[in-house]
Amino acid sequence: MQYFPIFISLRGHRVIVSGGGQTAIAKLRLLLKTDSHILVFAFQADTQIQTWAKENRVTLVPRSLETGDVVFGRLFYAANDAPTEDARVAAIARSEGAMVNIVDNLEDSDFITPALVDRDPVTIAIGTEGSAPVLARAIKADLEAWLPRTLGPLAQVAKGFRGMAVQLPKGLRRRRFWFDVYFKTGLQAFDFGGKDALRAVLPELLDKHLGAVDDAPINGHVSFVGAGPGDPELLTLKARKALDQADVVIYDQLVGAPILELARREALIINVGKQGFGRSTSQEKINSMLIQYGQNCQQVVRLKGGDATLFGRLNEEIEACIAANIEWHIIPGITAASAAVAAIGQSLTQRGRNSTIQILTGHDMNGFADHDWQTLARPGAVAAIYMGKKSARFIQGRLLMHGANPKTAVSLIENASRQNQRIIATTLAQLPQSLTKKAINGPALILYGLNPRAVVQARHLDRLQETG
Ligand code: SAH
Repeated sequence: MQYFPIFISLRGHRVIVSGGGQTAIAKLRLLLKTDSHILVFAFQADTQIQTWAKENRVTLVPRSLETGDVVFGRLFYAANDAPTEDARVAAIARSEGAMVNIVDNLEDSDFITPALVDRDPVTIAIGTEGSAPVLARAIKADLEAWLPRTLGPLAQVAKGFRGMAVQLPKGLRRRRFWFDVYFKTGLQAFDFGGKDALRAVLPELLDKHLGAVDDAPINGHVSFVGAGPGDPELLTLKARKALDQADVVIYDQLVGAPILELARREALIINVGKQGFGRSTSQEKINSMLIQYGQNCQQVVRLKGGDATLFGRLNEEIEACIAANIEWHIIPGITAASAAVAAIGQSLTQRGRNSTIQILTGHDMNGFADHDWQTLARPGAVAAIYMGKKSARFIQGRLLMHGANPKTAVSLIENASRQNQRIIATTLAQLPQSLTKKAINGPALILYGLNPRAVVQARHLDRLQETG
């Protein structure tokens, strides 16, 4: 290790920057996050620096740096974009006792500025000793995506509570408390209601942990997570995090292997969907599994295809959790209709064509009244029909009966977003035949009222199969 990472206090100290252009601005943006006194020496300063000066955020000295200017300076940045000038000012700064960084000149610098992930007061510095800046940026991007924006303020509020937490014995019990604050109850309270909600929940949480005996179970938590349509890249960041922290993952048939692979290695993974021609696990059994694991201090992820709130019997499972006094929350996912319409390159709504869309299931059409069919039969109507394969003929019959044009465009999207995605352009008249002729066996969405855009047709010529 050639460079030793430390965090240096700049509160009340002078930081001096020589230069007035974009290079200086980039460093100033970072320095402005600190509590330092910033002095900028620039013969000609960019308007951005002038604005900061007007706002008293930096002191601008409108001339080149001279001997004596860096006295009492802690850090010095040479950011003139001019090697000779940088060397001149760096020599002055060094002789006056400051640590020197010459921007883009590693060799002659005393320190380097790392890539920063800022969740103040949590800061992560990434350095590669100048060898791989691209790598540092990639790591930074990953961490930025991974660490919730709320982490900083959460840590700030929690810091104020440290004095109270010493009531808990040091060791496991205190660690459990802080884990609960940062990753479970505290985080959720903060997500929902910000600092005030977190402040309100902290004393309660402390009481709960003060009352807990060493190895008594603390209630677990059930996250109802939308796994998206199949492409693992269409998982939300929150879904990925939940999978990463899960002790138990209970999933449906629609959730594929590439997504399950993202679960924590030690997690118990349970399939409650149909296996082969077998039956799926009964809803009662699923509910009791949620309770059993949830009561046992486990982080349970109930993973459902697409979005968990659509055609997934979610309310029954939530009610089971509520009855058993288990905490739960929902992480939304990308539903099949979104993936399907993206696949055909269309918009679900369009000014002047349809300002509403119907989301319906072919599985249970009992609640679908005559007036609903009438609305759907009108020109321009759009509907996303889930689980519609078996009832396609019935749907077609009802729509035609209510006056729909047999030529109405219909797209069938099988395995939307997956490697084996298929798009079939058909019409209302041909809908049942298309489903059987094209042997649609995977999960398929029927987009009524929309056809694949011509460019998509061209792009997918090999996969797109036109009928009727
Ligand atoms: N909650 C899910 C829907 C569950 S119902 C969601 O929001 O997507 C199951 C039906 O969803 C399937 O029968 C099929 O119609 C549709 N479906 C789910 N995933 C799909 C996919 N990748 N491609 C096409 N249709 C899909």
